[in-house]
Amino acid sequence: MMLADEKLAAIRSGDACDLSRRDLTDILGAGPSVDEPLFHAASAVLERTVGPAVYLRGIVEISNACQKNCFYCGLRRDNPGVARYRMSSEEVLEALQEGFRAGLRSFLLQSGEMLGDEHIETVAQVLSECGRLWGDSVRMVLSLGELPRAVLDRLWAAGGRRFLLRIETSDRELYGRLHPRDGIHRWSERDACLGYLSSSGWQTGSGVLVGLPWQTVGHLAGDLEYLRGIDIDMCGMGPWIEHSGTPLFEARDSAPPVRERVSLTLRMIALLRIMMPEINISATTALQTLDPEGLEKGLQAGANVFMPNLTPARFRENYNLYEGKVLVRDDLETIIRSGKARCGSVRRLLVPDDPGDPLHYTRRLAAPGRGAEASGKADGGVL
Ligand code: SF4
Repeated sequence: MMLADEKLAAIRSGDACDLSRRDLTDILGAGPSVDEPLFHAASAVLERTVGPAVYLRGIVEISNACQKNCFYCGLRRDNPGVARYRMSSEEVLEALQEGFRAGLRSFLLQSGEMLGDEHIETVAQVLSECGRLWGDSVRMVLSLGELPRAVLDRLWAAGGRRFLLRIETSDRELYGRLHPRDGIHRWSERDACLGYLSSSGWQTGSGVLVGLPWQTVGHLAGDLEYLRGIDIDMCGMGPWIEHSGTPLFEARDSAPPVRERVSLTLRMIALLRIMMPEINISATTALQTLDPEGLEKGLQAGANVFMPNLTPARFRENYNLYEGKVLVRDDLETIIRSGKARCGSVRRLLVPDDPGDPLHYTRRLAAPGRGAEASGKADGGVL
């Protein structure tokens, strides 16, 4: 039987080779000597499939209000230290326009989880207006938490087509330790929401936290298999960063040291690139927060998306999922210029004006019996 390092060498040279659960845990739990062969294999897979392009997705954090109380998150409902805000549709559109003028063609609207009509209508208005202004030239990704099917259908009708919902961990027992047991934090609901998104034609993204208290490499290997099992199109995986205003802060001694969280995150990116070559994978802000070279390292491990923050400065400092988040204050042109240089330094090509549809989604929709057509939804949207 081939060992994990022999399989990595075979993957690098282009042979079809599957990584078993045992291989995944061995690689995730190995010493630093595994990194070079792993990252080379992931880079070779990337080069052969989606190529060297790096896409930009501008984030607008439209509200930090949230009905949930996740133990790891600074925006949790019961954190009194957060000055809550909600941007109007005009403020969101102004931020998007700035990104569009700088050349960006892909955006992410992110908020805590809120079900109020006003919030959802703001998002719907923004989607409709973006469709009117820019038609098929831009892509809008929504990251608004777990939403009921009727609300997702409302957003689809407004032109929404892309949704990101992180499962955070595929392990139900670990999920239970990270969330209150109060009936509104249910792993099964989150999983069902992801299933609905994917089966009804949405371009679907998910992701996990890496380096959590009590998390094992076995959990992380399970996460990779879960993400492949639900057939995601895009992924964001970041290291866990503690926030002193959250209950999980007390458990920080049960988490790996910061350097190991970074290292595990990079291995997760590389393994997922090998397992799902055609999806989009971002080099997350959390990764860049823990390591000043997180962008370059993430790209070398197999990431192909970089997400500058377009949230207006007066709101930005109040959107703290974790503490110490990098707050880049440069203007967008400077960020793009430096992004090009940083991508170039690891032989990758930043393409700000390419909306960067994942090849995986294009193929998934084209497969017989899949996507919006199969769900009975007319695909009249452009976003
Ligand atoms: S992780 Fe998301 S759902 Fe949970 S408290 Fe934070 S913003 Fe809300």
